[in-house]
Amino acid sequence: MKQFVHKLYSRGELARDELVYLLEHMDAETRAELFRFTHRRRMEKYGDKVYMRGLIEFSSFCRRDCLYCGLRAGNRNAERYRLKPEQILDCCREGYDLGFRTFVLQSGEDAWYTADILTELVLNIKSNFPDTALTLSIGERDEITYSKLYKAGANRFLLRHETASRRLYQSLHPNMSFDNRRNCLKTLQAIGYQVGAGFMVGLPGQTAEDLADDFIYLKTLNPDMIGIGPFIPHDQTPLAGARAGSLEDTLVMVALARLLVPDALIPATTALGTLNSEGREMALKVGANVVMPNLSPVSVRNKYALYNGKICTGDESAQCRHCLELRIGVAGFSVDMGRGDSIKAIMANR
Ligand code: SAH
Ligand code: SF4
Repeated sequence: MKQFVHKLYSRGELARDELVYLLEHMDAETRAELFRFTHRRRMEKYGDKVYMRGLIEFSSFCRRDCLYCGLRAGNRNAERYRLKPEQILDCCREGYDLGFRTFVLQSGEDAWYTADILTELVLNIKSNFPDTALTLSIGERDEITYSKLYKAGANRFLLRHETASRRLYQSLHPNMSFDNRRNCLKTLQAIGYQVGAGFMVGLPGQTAEDLADDFIYLKTLNPDMIGIGPFIPHDQTPLAGARAGSLEDTLVMVALARLLVPDALIPATTALGTLNSEGREMALKVGANVVMPNLSPVSVRNKYALYNGKICTGDESAQCRHCLELRIGVAGFSVDMGRGDSIKAIMANR
């Protein structure tokens, strides 16, 4: 088992059947060895820095019906909200004053936010805060819209591929297309965005083969960022009774991502912090190097309920920043409030 870990570290790759074998036979000893190497690789690549991104969840309306998600259109009990562009700018102002130089605008797939309204918003944010990097995470749109938003100044786009298994993807996403999601990621890269892909761990029906395919896909795509979090059920969805993904499995996936796509930025996700109060710190210790404190107005925080028990819904932005700064320090890392571009982006001078 250990030889697979050493091979992963020295070559940055593993054959599919070796990956499957490793995933199926991961014991405590192998895990400890893996984590030692992933921490080492992270220090070689990014040092002890942890990049901060200010997250603004600006709309909980969604036209999609992803089976796992509390914002799905079919959840008639969800309380919906939509921040106006001025309110989003206010969040950015507050974040900027707190020192943030990267904002992530995330939402359900909300048609109220047309290409024109979004373009105007991006232009406004970038003219008010020209020294910031702007990330969008708004789901699937057409190429023209992606392109307009990029020209308006958006720099990055997060669109998790969710799972690289066509079978699993189709079972979880009614009326969505596995191929279209992948095409979106390709299009975003071709336009010039720094792109973030990623997947959930512990989805009902997910196998070791499926997870191996996630890594094979990620290696081919070579994204700037990789978001990996546990699936956590939401009680108003068809998967209400399903089991959540485990902390250990998610940490192993974060670690494998660090070795297989070593230049990627990898967030310690809120979902991991929800699963375990120390989950994000543990992720930082096995290769993650980004955290995303919440800058959304406190009045809407608990309405952006992707899954049950989501943390950080009660604190003001300043408290969120402070809390995460403390946690990063205690875990032995240092906070970087800069733009925090990926190594790939720096090399390409994007
Ligand atoms: N609508 C956009 C962005 C918001 S959802 C999109 O789907 O791309 C952001 C991410 O939340 C999704 O990519 C998904 O991976 C994650 N997510 C949704 N429901 C979840 C759940 N129940 N447990 C864990 N993560 C979830
Ligand atoms: Fe909508 Fe995104 Fe939730 Fe799917 S995961 S229902 S697209 S918010």
